[in-house]
Amino acid sequence: MDTAIEEALRNRIFDWVRERAAANGGFLHRRELLDFQIDGRDLPIIDFSRGIRNPTEFSSTLAIVASADGPYDDTESHTDGLLHYAYRSGDPAGGDNRKLRAAITTGLPLILFRKEIANYYTPVLPVYVVEDIPEQRSFVIALDEAFRFMGSTRDLSDPQREYALRLARQRLHQPAFRTRVMVAYSTTCAVCTLRHGSLLDAAHIVPDTELGGVPTTPNGLALCKIHHAAYDQNMLGISPDYRVAIDGGLLEEVDGPMLRHGLQEMHGRSLTLPRLTKDHPDRALLAWRWERFAATPA
Ligand SMILES: [Zn+2]
Repeated sequence: MDTAIEEALRNRIFDWVRERAAANGGFLHRRELLDFQIDGRDLPIIDFSRGIRNPTEFSSTLAIVASADGPYDDTESHTDGLLHYAYRSGDPAGGDNRKLRAAITTGLPLILFRKEIANYYTPVLPVYVVEDIPEQRSFVIALDEAFRFMGSTRDLSDPQREYALRLARQRLHQPAFRTRVMVAYSTTCAVCTLRHGSLLDAAHIVPDTELGGVPTTPNGLALCKIHHAAYDQNMLGISPDYRVAIDGGLLEEVDGPMLRHGLQEMHGRSLTLPRLTKDHPDRALLAWRWERFAATPA
């Protein structure tokens, strides 16, 4: 396939993945990735059984899947924020590794799917294969094309390393946190039960800038945009016994339907909790945050 055609096709696939993920709340289902069609023909975006997707007509890899059990991926380096993706084995024709290697030369971007929960894929795109390290039998995957031009990733300067770590936080850890929270809450605002993925956020109870602000589901809440903003500004509080409270001053204001229905009527409601107890908000973390809400002058 002609490079320009392949690139155009790739861009259309990327756009579709972004749109679907936004509509779902930040992730894609396995089924929709396998069932993808373009111009009337099947073009699965992930492989049915392998962690790498190399469409026959593509010169380089379209997508890779990184599975992880914990909040962080085991293929990810915590010292440089880059992903170290092991050579694929059990590939007699060598196509898997060959097409990953080809991506270094062509510079064509690919999609990284993080899979922490069965059947749910968090897309991270575009990503780039920037280096082949034969002695470690692995490829280095970066979140910014700039790493293609920095020489060996083993010789990064401190600022380059910090940049890679910051990118990893924004583009790997935050989206993965969002997926964990959205799946736990079945893509539903915990305060008002709004169910539009594109209008929902994964909010931290203890902010990630604070000690203890970990990206785990018990420190998360699925909140719609308005309730997230209100929570962050202490206009809305959530008590350790899962009750919603609205700031006293706000309760007395008179305004239109958003204030009345969207905020004032939420006062005293019970939080809509995740189905699984292990995903419920941690009461100690809620208490930490509740103190700040209660201390805010009206
Ligand atoms: Zn809401």
